[in-house]
Amino acid sequence: METPQIAVLRLGHRLGRDPRITTHLGLVARTFGADKFFLAGDEDQKMFDGLTQVDERFGKVLDLEYVKSPMRLLRRWVEEDAGDGRPGVAAHLTMYGEEFRKAIPKMRRDRPLLIVVGGAKVPGDVYKLCQYNVSVGSQPHSEVAALALFLDSWGGSIAESEHFKGAQLEVIPNSDGKTVIDHSNDE
Ligand code: SAM
Repeated sequence: METPQIAVLRLGHRLGRDPRITTHLGLVARTFGADKFFLAGDEDQKMFDGLTQVDERFGKVLDLEYVKSPMRLLRRWVEEDAGDGRPGVAAHLTMYGEEFRKAIPKMRRDRPLLIVVGGAKVPGDVYKLCQYNVSVGSQPHSEVAALALFLDSWGGSIAESEHFKGAQLEVIPNSDGKTVIDHSNDE
């Protein structure tokens, strides 16, 4: 695929404990404008299959990749190659970082962005390698909430509907019930 403009790196995924929350990270990533999702920690094909099914039904947008060595990926992304042979930008979501509403306006937008989301233990090098350490409030809460608020603030809105092309099912906003167009039989 083309060089991702916004990628998410999920560190430390644990089978058994994290599939639901990591799925939610993927769902938030695809809905709010990311086009790539890197998974580190335990490999989890079942979780990827679930996200792929959502893509198939509601439009394919998210490229999924398991990475054995997330630190190598991160170092390469910021120092050498963000997918197009040139260094990119990395932002680590952490309660210890600079408040997102202050940080985002200062962040570079001319290079692909990798958003790093932690798991149980985040290696100290993540703080050093990422050009930005960004908090969404200075209290511990949820990686899903942190990613959603960050992406909303970064992009200003939920991804454009053409971003979801190829969707079998298209939901039309309706204040009074469900309106869903089924494109399965479209020419
Ligand atoms: N240490 C906990 C554990 O053992 O499961 C999990 C830490 S926390 C829930 C996981 C991730 O959520 C963090 O690494 C960070 O990326 C994100 N996070 C949590 N609170 C945050 C905040 N206030 N601002 C930004 N990110 C946050």
